[in-house]
Order: sequence, then structure tokens, then C-alpha cells
Amino acid sequence: MNSHFLSLCKRFLLFCFSCQLFVSTVNAQAVADSVAKAKRDRENAEKAKPTEIYSPVPPIVTPGKTDAEPPSDAIVLFDGRNLDLWRAEGPDSNRAAGWKVHDRIMTVDKKAKGIMTRQRFSDYQLHLEFRIPENITGSGQARGNSGVFLACISDSGSDVGYELQILDNYNNTTYVNGQVGSIYKQAIPLVNPSRKPGEWQVYEVVWTAPRFKADGSLDTPGRVTAFLNGVLVENDFIVKGITQYIGKPYYKNHGAAPIKLQAHGDPSEPISFRNIWLRPLAAAHPCCDW
Ligand code: MG
Repeated sequence: MNSHFLSLCKRFLLFCFSCQLFVSTVNAQAVADSVAKAKRDRENAEKAKPTEIYSPVPPIVTPGKTDAEPPSDAIVLFDGRNLDLWRAEGPDSNRAAGWKVHDRIMTVDKKAKGIMTRQRFSDYQLHLEFRIPENITGSGQARGNSGVFLACISDSGSDVGYELQILDNYNNTTYVNGQVGSIYKQAIPLVNPSRKPGEWQVYEVVWTAPRFKADGSLDTPGRVTAFLNGVLVENDFIVKGITQYIGKPYYKNHGAAPIKLQAHGDPSEPISFRNIWLRPLAAAHPCCDW
């Protein structure tokens, strides 16, 4: 071996040694970083504990097979079989709901007036499907007019309450605070996601009933969030009072109340409903005092 070759070998060995030293140093730093990070994570986990709450545990609810089907804790108000959970509006609370049930849907009978739930509700989530008939006629407010009275506060069942409007506005104009998706004459819907007559449409509603003080004056107003065909039309709207056709809305003391479906007096062809269910809502769980 000549001296040049020996020199090359020495340089190569020195290079290998340097590389090993570098790798070891990097590894040692990585381990040190990892240990420091684990320590920081443990310390942060301890600091986070005071704001982590484990009760009350939200109850388990089994959802429907589709979002349209009632979840396990729903009250099914109409499943296509009968109107046992409804009554006709009017002073006689024993009078059966007069609308026709056929083909697992119900169709408004305008002569039989509106129908009200026998049960009373406060706050709830409501699912409801309706269909304007394909052969609908009329215009403005006289074209498939109905409505959901989120709370019907007159036992006689007249239109005293808070109306979420139902109307055919697929290709029909009217005053915008009276079109489908409006809180009648109080809130213009954010958008108009109407489907055409003949197609089923879906309301998903969250209703927070107003509360009243012992002296009957308003404590907190009602609030409504509503989706029409999956599209938000009312976003936590603060209701101004009971629906008025003439004049301005105002509040009137009431407790839990039925829901009413309107049989509007316009001469257009009657609309139909199906698949109506509701989940009464408990008070929210304000878990935290921060
Ligand atoms: Mg109406």
C-alpha cells in the first residue's frame, strides 16, 4: 500500500466517524425534544382539566335510518296512519280532526278548518313535510296557503299564535314577509328555496317558546330557527309577538300550547302533509361559570 492510499483510508474513516457523531448528536437532540414535548403535554393536560366536564352525559338518541325518519326520542305526530294525536280547531276539544288521511298522507279539508295537536308543547324541534298540489291555481296569498302555528295560544283554535308560513312561492310573488319561510308579517325568509308544486318540501324547525313573568308580562321572547328543504330560512329570529293580519304583533301571556296546521280560506287546491314528528327540548345545559 502506498502512502496516498493510506491517507485516503484515514480520511474516509474520519468522515465516517464524523457522520456517526453527527447522527448521534441529532438523535440525542430528537430524544431530548421528544421528552420535553411529552412533559409539556402532560403539564398542559393538567392545566386543561379544570375546564373539562363529564356530567350530565347527553342521552343517547338513535337517529332514523335517514334524516327524515324520526329519531328514537321523537313524538311521531303523523306517520300516515291516522290523526289520533290531532283535533279539529274550535272550542270543542273532543272534536276529531276532519282532514282526509289517504295514501299515508293527509290533505287539508278547508271546510273542516285547521287541526291542532292534542298535546301541548313548549320548546321543540319539529320535522314536517308538505306538498303543494301539482295542479295548484291562484296567485299571491291565494295559492297553496297554509301555515304552521308554532304555538296556537287560543283554545278556540283561531289563528292566534306564531305562524311559520306555508305558501307556493316557486313561481309566485307576494309581500315578502308573507311568503313561504316567513314568520308571517314579522320576518322575511333569508332565501327562497321552494320546490315546484307536486314535489314534497321539508321544514325543520327549532322553536323556543316565549316565557312570561308571574304578572303576565313578557320575560323572554320566542325564537325560531327554520330550514326549508335543508336551507336556512330563519336564523334564530326573535319573534315580535303573535301573528297579526292587520296591525302589529304583540305578546299575550301563555304557557305550553298546541301546534296548529292552518286551513286557509283561499280557494286554491288544498295542500297535503306527511311525516310529522317532534322532539321536546329540555333546557340547555349551561355547564360552565366562565
Ligand atoms: Mg298561512
